[in-house]
Amino acid sequence: TYVVTDNCIACKYTDCVEVCPVDCFYEGENFLVIHPDECIDCGVCEPECPAEAILPDTEPDTEKWVEFNRKYSEIW
Ligand code: SF4
Repeated sequence: TYVVTDNCIACKYTDCVEVCPVDCFYEGENFLVIHPDECIDCGVCEPECPAEAILPDTEPDTEKWVEFNRKYSEIW
């Protein structure tokens, strides 16, 4: 899965949402999250993010972000 990190906070762009083929972005109060079970790992959103907030979970130390994205995509 890909995850949204805190670089997204207060970001006004939704370029990533528009390119996602499976619509797995969810909008929080001041950030976006990716539902980790719905993301198909296509990677097209990563270069679209102007805040460089999107990372693959193969990067180190992304476990907490996977949990954060899961939590908020299920709340909203
Ligand atoms: Fe959507 Fe692909 Fe990004 Fe996953 S990697 S959130 S499926 S655009």
